[in-house]
Amino acid sequence: MVTVVVGTQWGDEGKGKVIDYLAEKFDIIARYQGGANAGHTVVVNKKKYIFHLIPSGILYPKKICVIGNGVVIDPVALLEEIQYLKKNGIEVESKLFIAENAHVTLPYHKILDKVEDKFRGKGQLGTTGRGIGTTYTDKFGRIGIRVIDFIDEDVFMEKLKIALELKNYLFREYYKEEILKPEKIFDEYKHYRKEIKKFVINTAVFLNEKIEEGKKILAEGAQGTFLDIDFGTYPYVTASNPISGGACIGLGISPKKIEKIIGVAKAYTTRVGMGPFPTEIKDDIGEKLRKIGNEFGATTGRPRRCGWFDATLVKFACIVNGIDEIILTKLDVLTGFEKIKIGVGYKYKGEIINFYPFSSKIFSNCEVIYEEVEGWEDDISDFKSYKELPKNVKKYIEKIEEKIGIKIAKISTGSARGQIIEKN
Ligand code: GDP
Repeated sequence: MVTVVVGTQWGDEGKGKVIDYLAEKFDIIARYQGGANAGHTVVVNKKKYIFHLIPSGILYPKKICVIGNGVVIDPVALLEEIQYLKKNGIEVESKLFIAENAHVTLPYHKILDKVEDKFRGKGQLGTTGRGIGTTYTDKFGRIGIRVIDFIDEDVFMEKLKIALELKNYLFREYYKEEILKPEKIFDEYKHYRKEIKKFVINTAVFLNEKIEEGKKILAEGAQGTFLDIDFGTYPYVTASNPISGGACIGLGISPKKIEKIIGVAKAYTTRVGMGPFPTEIKDDIGEKLRKIGNEFGATTGRPRRCGWFDATLVKFACIVNGIDEIILTKLDVLTGFEKIKIGVGYKYKGEIINFYPFSSKIFSNCEVIYEEVEGWEDDISDFKSYKELPKNVKKYIEKIEEKIGIKIAKISTGSARGQIIEKN
C-alpha cells in the first residue's frame, strides 16, 4: 500500500529529513510532482546531501526510487544529480526508475521562464527560472515532450521542431530573443538521451505490480500545500499539485491504494519569494528565526521569509490532504524565544475569519489573531522521549494539536536522522 508525505505550509518543511527517516520502512520511494526546483536536504552521518529530482531514499542501498509522470525532468539537472550521487559513493543504476510519460524540460523552457516573468511587470512571480512552470504549460498546451519521446531520436526531432516553431515565433516577434535551432538542441542532448534511457520504464505499471506484490510505497511530494496550483496562494504558487491527491495523478495509482497520509509541518512558518504571508515577522525576531533555522533555500540560496506557526493554514492543509498525522519539524529552532505565538484566525474589516481565504485581497490584508505560549530555554535537540521534554515545549505542541485538530505523531529536533521523537 501507499503512504503519502506532503508539506502543509509553503514547502521547506523538512520533508527531505522526514522521508529519509521513514524510507527505512518502505520498499519504494516515489516522487510525484515538481521539478528540479525542489531542494530536499538530508544529513546522514554528519554528511549533507541535497536532492532536487531524485528521491532521497536513494541513500539506502536496497531501496527503489521512482520519478513519476507528474514530475517534470530537466535531463541536465538529472544527470548532474546522478553524477553527484555516484561521486559520493551512492549506487544509482538499477535503483532508479523514471516515468516514460513524465515531461522533459528543454532549453527554451528555461529561457521562457526568465523572459516571461520579466514581461509580467507588476505581476512578476519571481520564479526560479528553471523552466518548471513553462514545461507544465507545454504539457497542458499539448506541445510538451515526454521522456519516451525524448529518448526516441525520430520522435524527439519531430516534436522538437513543432515546439520550436511556436517558441521561435515568440522569441523573434515578441520577446526579441535569439531563436533556437532544433538541430543544435538535438545534438546537445544526445549524451543526455543515452545516459537517461537506461532508467526509463512504465512506472505506473511497475508501481501497481509492486503494490500487488505487497510492497510498501512512500510517495514524496515536493513544495507544500500553499504552493499548490489549485489550493495555494495563487498566483504565487508552483505549477503542479503538491497535495496528496497529486500522488494518484503523478504516479498512476488509484486513490483506493493510499493507506496513510502524513503531513510535515515546521514548528514556525517560512516562505520563499513573493506572495501573502500573514504571520510573517518583519523585525529582529524574524531575523533570529532565519539565522537559527538556517532558512536559506537549498537550491537557490535565497533567504526565506520567516514567521509564526499559522494554525489556520495547517488546519486547512490537514483537511484538503486528508492528513492522518503530523510530523512537526525544527522545533529545536524555537529554543530561546521568550514567548511564542500561534496564528489561530484572521480578522478582515472587523470580521473574524476562521479558515484560509482564497481571496488574495483578504489574505494579503487581514490581521492575524494570535495566541501566545511561554517559550523555553533548554536545548531540546538531544531529547529522546516525549515525556522528558520541558513543560513549555509540550504545551506548545499540544496547543498546535488543539488548533489544527490532528495529532502530532513525531517531533523532529535536528537535521540528523536520529533526531526525532515519537510522541506516543
Ligand atoms: P524540504 O524541502 O521540505 O525537504 O526542506 P529543506 O530540506 O529545504 O529544509 C529543511 C532544512 O532543515 C534542511 O537543511 C534540513 O537539514 C533541516 N532540518 C530538517 N529537520 C530539522 C529539524 O528538526 N531541526 C533543524 N534544526 N533542522 C532541520
